[in-house]
This record gives sequence, C-alpha cells and structure tokens, in this order.
Amino acid sequence: MSGIYIHIPFCRQACYYCDFHFSVSWKRKDDFVQALLKEIELQKNFLANEKISSVYFGGGTPSILSADELKKILFTLSKYHSIADDAEMTLEANPDDLTKEKIKDIGETGINRLSIGIQSFSDEDLKFMNRVHDSKQAIESVKSAQDAGFRNITIDLIYGTPTLADEQWVKNLEQAFALDVPHLSCYALTVETQTALAQFIKKGKVAPVDEAKAAAQFEILMKRSSQKGFEQYEVSNFAKAQMYSRHNSSYWRNEKYLGLGPSAHSYNGVSRQWNVANNHLYIEAINKGSVPFEEEILTAVQKYNEYVLTSLRTRWGCDVMKIKNEFGEKFGEYFSKTADDFIRQQWMENRDRVYVLTHKGKFFADRISSDLFYSED
Ligand code: SF4
Repeated sequence: MSGIYIHIPFCRQACYYCDFHFSVSWKRKDDFVQALLKEIELQKNFLANEKISSVYFGGGTPSILSADELKKILFTLSKYHSIADDAEMTLEANPDDLTKEKIKDIGETGINRLSIGIQSFSDEDLKFMNRVHDSKQAIESVKSAQDAGFRNITIDLIYGTPTLADEQWVKNLEQAFALDVPHLSCYALTVETQTALAQFIKKGKVAPVDEAKAAAQFEILMKRSSQKGFEQYEVSNFAKAQMYSRHNSSYWRNEKYLGLGPSAHSYNGVSRQWNVANNHLYIEAINKGSVPFEEEILTAVQKYNEYVLTSLRTRWGCDVMKIKNEFGEKFGEYFSKTADDFIRQQWMENRDRVYVLTHKGKFFADRISSDLFYSED
C-alpha cells in the first residue's frame, strides 16, 4: 500500500513561524491546478501499480481550493491509480475557510478526513503567529465539520510560544478535548532560519524560544492527553481508539509515496525525489511536459538514519532485526551498542529487540536519534 501527497502552494497570509513552500499571490492558481492535473499523468508510473491507501492534500492551504477543483484532482488521480475503496482522504484546512457551505461541498468530493490548522484557542497567541483566523472561528469550524458528518478530524496545536502561558495551554487542551476530536497533532514552536519569526528574535522584538517552558508544556500535553484516553502513537501525534493518521504512519513506517505539486517529495524505496519549490518554474516545466525534480539514490547509511529518525518517534519503535536484515549487520550492531547508553539512562526500553522511547526519552527524541545516526567518518 502506498500514499499520495498533493502540495497546494497558496496561503492567505504568511504565518510568522512558517517555512513551508507557499505563495500569497494567487494569480497563477488556475495555471497551477492545470499543471497539477498534468503532473498526475506524467508521474503515473512512479508507484508502479501500487494500491493507494491514502491521499493527503497538504500545503500551503489546500482548503482554498474549490470543491470542483478537488473533485477534478481526485478524478484524475483515480484515472491513473488504483485507490482503495476505504482509502483515507485528508484535506488540511484552515478554520477561516471552513464555512458551513464549504464543508458540505468538501464532504461531497470524497474527502473523509479533515486536518484543521487551529494552532491555538487564544486570540493573543494567534495574533503572535499571524494566523488569519480567531479562536471563535476555530471552535465553529470543528463543530460545523462535525455537524456535516465528519468524524475523522484532527486538529493542530502549537505550544511553547512566548504568548502562551501554561494556564492557557491547559485551556487550549481542554477546549480540544471538549470538541471531542479523535486526533491531535501538537508541535513545539520551532524557529526556522528563513522565517519572519527568526528575524523578530534577531532584532530583539520577540524573546527567543524558552526550551524549559516548551518542555513543561510537553509534559502537560502528555499527561492531560493520556488522562483523556489519547494514545501518543508518535511524539507529536495523539489518537483515540487507534484513529491514527494512516498517511503519516505510512511515512513513519518507510512505505512508498508519491508527492505532487511544487516542493513535494516522493520516495519509492530506492530513491527520493523532490519537485522544485517555485510555483512559476513548476508550472512552466510541466507545461513543457517534464516534471522539475531533483533525485537522490539513497545509500544504506541514509536509509538506516532515516529509519532511526522516524521509527524511534513512534509507538512501533525501532526494530534491530529489521535494521540488520534491511540495512546490514554493522548498522544493527552500531545501533544496539549506542542504544545501551540510553537504556541505562532510562530514555529507551528494549522490548524484545524493538527499541522504544520511554516517557523521559520523548523529551530528547531528536538528540537520541542524532546520536544513533551512523556516519562513515
Ligand atoms: S497557513 Fe500553514 S502553510 Fe500557510 S503560512 Fe500558515 S502555517 Fe504556513
């Protein structure tokens, strides 16, 4: 089973912390949709007849597309791919786009899962991030989606911002629980170099991220979500009743995927490729009949490092036998030897040669995986 990711590279305004590829100019939106339909055809053989178990519209802001555009894209996908009847079809949506009418239209396209970019239920916090919506729209968008029959809803929240006190973070979580959604994705604010936020911090307009505060809010998140019956199946992802994101789980489990649209990445088990992150260059190249991408054939070291990075963050953990069988004996030995230190510190557990992070270890997930990375040097 494989997944398809579709990148919609337009937003209404730039959130200060964001370093995804998007444009706030929509002049070429129609040209982009035409190019995307063409790319679906050009890339039809990438997954070589694999059954598709998930389709994910990400961005950018996919909810700016009309229902007709979504239908056209999904119809074209179904012409060239065998999509499972029960495939998970996710649309990332911003609350300000989710009017009752729009939600009803989305429900008629085949989309069966909404990922709503709420980020915070505090207006002060939303202003700090330069989000378009306010907290009232955030709450209404979820309720309207539920009224329209959507059950598979996830919401994104960000913690660790300078404007988010612990008390407000608790309120944000309580609000999310009260909305009764089965899935949450919660990320600590990170400062990427090319963003407005990085500039504000450099100029002293905004305080640098307080890591101790982010860690305290991560602890609150793990405790409260567990009390409410959520399973932390990935460091930043929480699900009730095993309503895991099928699409993201397939990334974490090293399954193949095709990425369409500017900046989208694809992986076929052997190589990884990524489309140009420029709307104009993307549209022009596709119009001339070629997909503008760069490609990298993955070495055993890269495959091992990627497997460690993604699997260790999940409930399924990092399997030493898989490492030995798929990447080579030396990687398995290196992993076990390095992991011993983390087991002594009680950051990891060895469950019959499958290594998983402990509660304490989840605070240091990135550091642990980078120490477990293999280098030829
Ligand atoms: S809406 Fe999403 S993609 Fe667009 S700028 Fe904000 S965070 Fe980035």
